Amino acid sequence: MTMVIEADKIATVHYTGTFPEGGVFDSSEGRDPLTFLVGHQQMVAGFEDEMLGAAVGEKREFTLTPERAYGERDDGAVQVVPREQFPEDMELEVGMVMAAETEQGPLKFNVAAVTEESVTVDFNHEMAGKTLRFAVEVVDIRDAAPEELSHGHVHGPGGHHH
Ligand code: ZN
Repeated sequence: MTMVIEADKIATVHYTGTFPEGGVFDSSEGRDPLTFLVGHQQMVAGFEDEMLGAAVGEKREFTLTPERAYGERDDGAVQVVPREQFPEDMELEVGMVMAAETEQGPLKFNVAAVTEESVTVDFNHEMAGKTLRFAVEVVDIRDAAPEELSHGHVHGPGGHHH
């Protein structure tokens, strides 16, 4: 039986992600392909859903609306905080990506605006609210090792080395 992309397989793909209005936001072209453990939230759910059942050599193109990709933008995730909450000597610029330490681990945010008194921070994922198109080609599919399944990620090339 031909192996296809399904839960608990390790899939390796080449991909190019574009915006419907044009412009590539990410691509594995000229780099190592992307390897991920299927069904363990390593990828956005919509991406995996669209690739389920694909065999090696198969190419698929699909469009993900925000709810199937990184979600809609949440205005409540934009906050204005006093400038003094940042180190005085830190140069803050609009567009900078930083991380806040939380009990759940580091949480990335984007600097959306800076004034003398305040900094507007945006905790939305940078791809939130965006419709994404993908062109994907399956390069390899293999069974996950029991250790990979228990860790929830890939070991070896394209994955964790530990
Ligand atoms: Zn591991």
